[in-house]
Amino acid sequence: MLKMENVSKIYRTDLIETHALRKVDLHIKAGEFVAITGPSGSGKTTFLNITGLLETFEEGNYYLDGQNVQGMSDNQLSDLRNEKIGFIFQSFNLLPDLPLYQNIEIPLRYRGLAQADRKQRVEQALETVGLASRAKHLPTQLSGGQQQRVAIARAIAGEPKFLLADEPTGNLDSLMAQQVMELLEKINQSGTTIIMVTHDDKLARRAHRNIQIFDGQVSDIEYSVTDEVVK
Ligand code: ADP
Ligand code: ADP
Repeated sequence: MLKMENVSKIYRTDLIETHALRKVDLHIKAGEFVAITGPSGSGKTTFLNITGLLETFEEGNYYLDGQNVQGMSDNQLSDLRNEKIGFIFQSFNLLPDLPLYQNIEIPLRYRGLAQADRKQRVEQALETVGLASRAKHLPTQLSGGQQQRVAIARAIAGEPKFLLADEPTGNLDSLMAQQVMELLEKINQSGTTIIMVTHDDKLARRAHRNIQIFDGQVSDIEYSVTDEVVK
């Protein structure tokens, strides 16, 4: 579960103040699949980065899985992030010179997981995304859609409660976007909460809930399915 109360974010440069988020109040339940939509510059990435503890905020409270993140040190934030959150980006962010296996394994090494545990998680994650036979391939030997599936494998190998996706299909053609969306739905059905920023209205409508951000404000919350569907 994830809760924001009156969260505001202001970017300040010498001359300009940008109110990227204005008093955001919202609650996302465990197991939800939420799509975040809104015009360019409206604050979607800022919202996702705050949600994922990549950025701090000025005002308000944010509770991630019941823990108030306000006042946590950078180390506490990064521990909490590693434990709870997985990220996927529009540009995949894979290491081009390393095989898929290592791309997925490296974050697990950083977390100090034992070799046997890493191996089991990497193999399971590759299996989930349908790339078990490609462990030794380099990212450049794969299509864009497959590379995004590797990035998803890397994220889920960390066994996050929350998977945050910033335009995950933005660089993909519609068939590959469809496959990535189906994969995210499968991951959501296994219990992972997903928050996805997207420009694609068709994909957004497939989420349980659509949160629209305009000029830093969460202005509309529309349920596309009833609450009962949400675990
Ligand atoms: P979106 O993801 O909806 O396109 P962003 O969250 O990236 O929107 O940006 C929201 C607003 O904050 C925009 O006006 C953007 O220019 C501004 N902004 C984002 N990041 C920074 C930054 N690091 N420094 C200054 N302004 C920023
Ligand atoms: P370590 O050196 O971490 O104790 P190993 O000698 O078993 O473990 O593996 C060396 C490296 O080979 C690992 O870091 C991992 O990146 C890679 N590796 C292990 N299993 C596979 C596999 N099935 N496919 C591709 N690479 C693998």
